[in-house]
Amino acid sequence: MSVYLDHNATTRVRPEAIAAMVSTMEKVGNPSSIHAAGRAARATMEEARGHVATLIAAPASTVIFTSGGTEANAIALESAVAAGSRRLIISAIEHPSIVDTAAASDAAVEVMPVTSDGVADLDWLRGRLARWDAADGRPFVALMLANNETGVIQPVQAAAELVRAADGWMHVDAVQAAGKIDVDSRALGADTLSISAHKIGGPMGVGALTFGPRAVLSRRQHGGGQERGRRGGTENLPGISGFGAAANSVHNAKTGGSCPIAIVERLKASGAVVVAESAPRLPNTLCLVTAGWTSDLQVMALDLAGVMVSAGSACSSGKVKASPVLAAMNLGDLAACAIRVSGGWNTTEADWAAFAAAWLEAHARHAARRKEVA
Ligand code: PLP
Repeated sequence: MSVYLDHNATTRVRPEAIAAMVSTMEKVGNPSSIHAAGRAARATMEEARGHVATLIAAPASTVIFTSGGTEANAIALESAVAAGSRRLIISAIEHPSIVDTAAASDAAVEVMPVTSDGVADLDWLRGRLARWDAADGRPFVALMLANNETGVIQPVQAAAELVRAADGWMHVDAVQAAGKIDVDSRALGADTLSISAHKIGGPMGVGALTFGPRAVLSRRQHGGGQERGRRGGTENLPGISGFGAAANSVHNAKTGGSCPIAIVERLKASGAVVVAESAPRLPNTLCLVTAGWTSDLQVMALDLAGVMVSAGSACSSGKVKASPVLAAMNLGDLAACAIRVSGGWNTTEADWAAFAAAWLEAHARHAARRKEVA
């Protein structure tokens, strides 16, 4: 048996995306060439741009293709610093692509706290913006739309109103939200917003950034003037066409993948606690903590049973580290006992049932072992 419930890490590439990529690779043509093959390649790229733009309700002319969510986040943040922002406000639950890019920049960084439910504290933001020092330039605020570990959906629209009133720059990492909930970049009030193909059923290594009129984007790479001069280099056309096809499928049929309530209740009855249970959350994401049973032991026990989930902690290079997201929610020692289970477009109820059966069995074994030791 093999059950994959780690779709927030990456989801299976949709058949429509594979078909689009294969078809693109079978043809010749550089989108910058002016002959027939080049024009056809450009048409393929612009069709994909249209699908991606529709998914996030942005004008296609404001969508730049990137190498992924990481680069899209970096372009936004680094552009704001280049345009004069000397102090960045990032929420305590941002992805490392925001946290580490901010830390590596020349700007000062302040962290917007979250409540114990993992929701950004907008009272803090309001107070902080009210005493903004003009010498720090325009405030840049990064708040993701949905968190990758807990699935908690953030009050981005309300945050954006505060940021706009302070003439700031609102950046929204919508990488985990896209395809799972509606993402309307303009209604949200985002000045910049990033998404990534491999989280919606497209290939890895492609993403996009959309920008509004108040964002001043700097050039990412010099070169042949691609992406309206912002990002030189021949475009990743196969990847972009797969991204477009995935975006089109998502737009036409939103991702399922949520855990049936009856299963959640069975897990809770055996001692699992759903993190941020009362907060608005992505339908596909379940972050569970079980006191006394560490994340790595849970992940390994489930893996042996053929069920793939993620430790609820940041996992880089195969090593599990304490999660800054769960720490920011004041979970204390419980943060070391979290797992993240995330469904996707091809997840079935049988997958969730298999996960629950494996988890309950492993939990019973773990509890029995602990009793023996005690
Ligand atoms: N932002 C969030 C919230 C993510 O979950 C991820 C990927 O895990 C990224 C950004 C980075 O996207 P990519 O893998 O396309 O660089």
